[in-house]
Amino acid sequence: MPSRRWIGPPIVALQLLALAPDLPAQLASTAVAGPEAAEPSARTYDGLFDEVIRMRPRADRAAEVTNLILQRDVARLTLRSGHLHLLSAVGGRTVGAVFSGTGVFSFVPSSRIERDRLRRLEKVDSLESPFTELLLVFADGTADELEAALEFGPDPDVNEMRGTIQPGLEFLADRDSRTFDPDFMSAWLNGEQSELFFAYVKRKGADPVAFSINPNEVEGVRLQGRIRRQGYGRRAEVISQFPPRGRAGQGRGERLRQAGIEHYALDVSLPPTGIGEVGFAATATMRIVADTAVGPWVAFELFEKLQVDSAAWGDGEKATIARGKDSPFLWVKLDRQIRPGDTRTLTVHYEGDLIDRYVDFFRIKSSAAWYPRSLDGRSLATFDLTFNTGFQYLLASVGDKVDSSRADRTVRSRWVTPSPIRNASFNLGLFEGYDVQEKDAPPVTVMISEEAHKKLAKVYDQQSRMRERVGADVAKSLKFFQEMYGPTPMRRFYATEIPDFHGEAFPGMVHLSWVTFQNTSDGGWDEVFRAHEVAHQWWGIGVDFASYHDQWLSEGFATFSGLWYLQHLRGDNEQYFDLLRRWKSSILLRGAEPGPIWLGYRVFATRDDDLDDYQTIVYQKGAWVVHMLRVLMLDLKTMKEDRFTGMMKDFYRKYEGRRASTEDFLRMVEKHAGTDMGWFFDQFVYGAEIPTYRVAHRIEKTPDGQWRVRLRVRQEHVPESFRMYVPVTLELGKKRKELARFRVKVEGPLTEIELPPVQAEPKKVTFDDLEGVLAEVKTTGWD
Ligand SMILES: [Zn+2]
Repeated sequence: MPSRRWIGPPIVALQLLALAPDLPAQLASTAVAGPEAAEPSARTYDGLFDEVIRMRPRADRAAEVTNLILQRDVARLTLRSGHLHLLSAVGGRTVGAVFSGTGVFSFVPSSRIERDRLRRLEKVDSLESPFTELLLVFADGTADELEAALEFGPDPDVNEMRGTIQPGLEFLADRDSRTFDPDFMSAWLNGEQSELFFAYVKRKGADPVAFSINPNEVEGVRLQGRIRRQGYGRRAEVISQFPPRGRAGQGRGERLRQAGIEHYALDVSLPPTGIGEVGFAATATMRIVADTAVGPWVAFELFEKLQVDSAAWGDGEKATIARGKDSPFLWVKLDRQIRPGDTRTLTVHYEGDLIDRYVDFFRIKSSAAWYPRSLDGRSLATFDLTFNTGFQYLLASVGDKVDSSRADRTVRSRWVTPSPIRNASFNLGLFEGYDVQEKDAPPVTVMISEEAHKKLAKVYDQQSRMRERVGADVAKSLKFFQEMYGPTPMRRFYATEIPDFHGEAFPGMVHLSWVTFQNTSDGGWDEVFRAHEVAHQWWGIGVDFASYHDQWLSEGFATFSGLWYLQHLRGDNEQYFDLLRRWKSSILLRGAEPGPIWLGYRVFATRDDDLDDYQTIVYQKGAWVVHMLRVLMLDLKTMKEDRFTGMMKDFYRKYEGRRASTEDFLRMVEKHAGTDMGWFFDQFVYGAEIPTYRVAHRIEKTPDGQWRVRLRVRQEHVPESFRMYVPVTLELGKKRKELARFRVKVEGPLTEIELPPVQAEPKKVTFDDLEGVLAEVKTTGWD
């Protein structure tokens, strides 16, 4: 049950892959902490961590169990018969127990989407699983519940149950980095009772599962499967996840309770080292706030390779911090609990291995967690950033560059954000700056490593005028989106090159892969890629997404925007539709298997090379949804798009600077469509099925000399109620292409359609013209 950022998806990166170290296998000492430790381990982070990973069954606290029921939200653990042992104390408190015997784990997801999900992964829509062993970890009232229900006594033949405790704790702990689930850790360090509950269930005849309740998360009920190592570290497959009963719809975002940082003053040194690399050391002065009472121990995220040298409060007093080697968390002990309205100012000095050099490129290993951040990485803050670099480097960051000076061989520049933002980043390199600007659009500076490309030219093909080509797309797409979606507060825009295969977007700045500088592909993909990153200024940054369910409002919208820009740039539709069809092939190939767009990063969970599913569903199918709305809102008589463009502008204007949810977007679509659109979202955003249409047509001459087209559409692979309004185009006339366009309603297994008569003989009938529906279309004979 690690926090979202620990297990979660990249926020705006186009792709993110990193291999993480394996979990350690060896156990620490097997010493059992004293049952009634008179001196509760002073609640230091390290003290607690050692106690928790060394938890062992207590020989003096064993009980026989018959038909004990533990009900937690939609899950029920029925301990039919067996033995239960309390585990050794943590911070003087009983926080764990193990059971062996026979029992049943019941779990019934609360929503249709989650039941579908369970059916996909577990082949049933609710669980009723017999189990033989159980590990319980808790900060709730479980200890009292057990004490009240059972009679505890000594058991000299205590079973160590390592085969249950160790794999169970792997869901919560990483021994190497001395990291434990931050919510449990906070509850124990702060001596809090909370609803936190975790059960590792060793099922009979099936893989183990982990069930948990976390009151600090909006979707606090979670069922997880196996653990895989990936990304930031490792990720347990989320089988099912939803809000606790009676709490649906609470909060925007993913966490309910955490310390945030509302302002940063960062002074960053990026000194050239003797061997041509760049070091990293920083002083961060942060204003810590909270929306509910938290602490005194609070956790922040900080890139694992950065070491904290010292930390002090505003008055200079030394601050207590804890940080495991290579841990993604920085723990800070405040002088007291922080409450809403309180502010604490903490200064942290830290440094470390943040920047690698490749040829003449520098790679910043963590583009976002290079400063301490809130656990969900999503609180908004203002930044006052000062960078000190070698004079040979060019640097770009977020916000307005308010000052720059050179002394000796060091350049000092200062960047200030005019309003709060979610992620701050920077990039530096042996760059040449190239300025380009479209009329009435913000000026763009492209930062490219010309020298690196000279070296790369010896190995790879390379286009000429790299900076001009990339710069043109950045500047033109900025202008295009400004016209289509509305103005942004940005005054200058930076596009910098990175030695990676992805792009990333920050306020007023994008990082673009060196590959897109090297060449521009024929298929339009590079234009889409460059414009996708630019479009995040509107979608993802300007309008943030409410939770992981809504991330398609960022990635799907940015992908659609890139495609729309390509169509506008080329002045024809060929590549626009060609790319849509290519994405459709990927989507059809996966079918309903990954689940709906609304699952966000959780579409990951369905197979091992799962990055593709995230791209396919959230990016590409997300773009398809926007495209389908575009076609649905198109006036087929005039081919005008006013309704669609009006809607996109309105959506941007209404939610700029805020978080928007899928439901917010649905309401905006309905406002501009003037009708209920829930069915469309149910099918394509909350649902995963994609229709196949088997289409036959017949052309008849009417008695009065006109022509009539009949269509017979069989719909497959979707629920019976599935419906769409499908564009049908007839090509009329002999030589010149005269078009008659219609929109027909297709619903249910069989739809018979008679189009209004036309004056000339149709030469061609195109069903699902303009790629109006994400569907597989097959042409069949009439009978
Ligand atoms: Zn993106």
